[in-house]
Amino acid sequence: MSHTDRRTFMMQVAACGSLLAAGSQAMAQARLDEKDPQAVALGYVHDTTKADKKKFPKHDNSQKCTNCALWQSKPTDAWGNCPLFAGKQVAGPGWCSAWAKKG
Ligand code: SF4
Repeated sequence: MSHTDRRTFMMQVAACGSLLAAGSQAMAQARLDEKDPQAVALGYVHDTTKADKKKFPKHDNSQKCTNCALWQSKPTDAWGNCPLFAGKQVAGPGWCSAWAKKG
């Protein structure tokens, strides 16, 4: 590979990387709507204290997305990823009926 080829290649890699980063950033910004059919099906709320306690008697206000086994973001993140809602972000203080204790 000549010096110029290598340089072009490196520039292409860099451009590609920033496109990918921009793409995942755009995806990360889409927030789950409480009225989304899957959110409704799982009783998802942005605020765990607003969960339907009659429908989900095992719910407890200490349960929230940030301490759920399925939470895929940092414990301090306000919004993060959950595999049940691919491509959308759920609220850190949120909750759904699939909440599971960590570890
Ligand atoms: Fe939040 Fe866990 Fe429900 Fe995902 S499964 S929405 S992280 S409570």
